[in-house]
Amino acid sequence: MPPLEDNPALPAPNRTQPLFSPGTSKDQALVIFVLGGPGAGKGTQCANVVRDYGFKHLSAGDLLREEQDRPGSEFGELIRSYIKEGQIVPMEVTIQLLENAMNAEISKTQNRKFLIDGFPRKMDQALKFEEAVVPSKFTLFLDCDDQTMHERLIDRGKTSGRADDNEESIKKRFRTFVEQSRPVVEHFEKEDRVVKVDATTSKEEVYKRVQEHFEKEGLCFYYGDAK
Ligand code: UDP
Ligand code: MG
Repeated sequence: MPPLEDNPALPAPNRTQPLFSPGTSKDQALVIFVLGGPGAGKGTQCANVVRDYGFKHLSAGDLLREEQDRPGSEFGELIRSYIKEGQIVPMEVTIQLLENAMNAEISKTQNRKFLIDGFPRKMDQALKFEEAVVPSKFTLFLDCDDQTMHERLIDRGKTSGRADDNEESIKKRFRTFVEQSRPVVEHFEKEDRVVKVDATTSKEEVYKRVQEHFEKEGLCFYYGDAK
């Protein structure tokens, strides 16, 4: 029997080796992180990339909301209060949800290409995910000013039904972004692993820039395989 810490069935935070190596073959996974402040347009741009490049979109926020609403979830209440307060849910929960979703996609469709949207938003998550699940290929950072993001969120709040698209939660989410998530972007920047795109213009304009980078990174090479 292998030593306990080498057991891939262990929950991610206890693993000392990544579950996957980067790539699209067996035992591999290709992960791109998509970061940006609340309302920067992560979900919108991810939908474009999924359509054109065959990635699976995994939104950490959506996975958390799904778990929150799952009958019998032991984390429901905890997730609800963190989201309302614009705080980051303890990483063990989020990393496990992401890993489960990746495994489910791979066994269902054999697709091993993932856009992970809105994660990692805190240093501990960033380090642990890359150490225990898979090192990312790069981080797409959608760069947007506060005023534009604020306007978009208030607009979205009219129809989104999200408990955190209101003035008070938005304020807290902005603070969390500046204090906890921006350091993650800076960390990856220091390692030269960030692709930064100006996200203040129209959806179409932003997507053009995104596409340029995906082509440059050679991701058109992956186009069409395993979707
Ligand atoms: N969240 C979290 N950990 C994550 C991602 C999201 O705790 O890794 C929580 C956090 O409270 C955040 C909320 O989920 O404010 C909503 O995240 P989402 O990505 O849906 O918001 P968006 O950035 O799209 O506005
Ligand atoms: Mg989103």
